[in-house]
Amino acid sequence: MKKVLVLEDETNIRSFVVINLKRAGYETIEAGTGEEALEQLRRNPDIKVALLDIMLPDEMDGFEVCRRIRASNSKIGIIMLTARTQEMDKVTGLMTGADDYVTKPFSPAELTARVDAIYRRIGDREETPVSADDTVRYPPFLLNTRNRTLEKNGQRVKVTQVEYSIMKLFLENPGKALSREEIMSVVWGKDYFGELKIVDVNIRRLRLKIEDDPQTPKFITTVWGYGYKWGR
Ligand code: CA
Repeated sequence: MKKVLVLEDETNIRSFVVINLKRAGYETIEAGTGEEALEQLRRNPDIKVALLDIMLPDEMDGFEVCRRIRASNSKIGIIMLTARTQEMDKVTGLMTGADDYVTKPFSPAELTARVDAIYRRIGDREETPVSADDTVRYPPFLLNTRNRTLEKNGQRVKVTQVEYSIMKLFLENPGKALSREEIMSVVWGKDYFGELKIVDVNIRRLRLKIEDDPQTPKFITTVWGYGYKWGR
């Protein structure tokens, strides 16, 4: 069963999300507080995707829940539910490990498309056939495509599944300018309806993890007005 955690304090919105996810074939685990969400994750380690509302009445908001989940789990897909578009700056600034965000009010189609996109990528992991050569090397980086892990100078770099997919795309196309649309299409899937900004958010975060100096990146460089490129 495809399990999704839904953290939302407003019961009518939570029911709306749950009904639509069930209709799309997911099993839902519900939580109304951050504590409950973390407890449910401990009880259900097979949850593959978590939807986290940001604005919660307790001390622990959705960002904090996200941080705590990521501290021990880099594989799970995380989608933030945001209240207004005006919060975007805050969202992008504070996004400490989410893969995507959905702005309220959202349609059932939009919601399930986002969950499907994340789920497909994570679910794919277990079906990846074992190939003879399951590494992509670009010193000092080494990507293991079987375990979907990244190393820099022999040290494991903790990356989310989205960040891994972006790294793979770059390392397979070194020196090639990739448009933001192209990155989005490959990493998030062709049916993805999200905003291009999510590409920038993930790349900014990836730079913090892989660059020697994230302010002057030398691995993931910006191609102004177009997108990004691996190398200078
Ligand atoms: Ca709320």
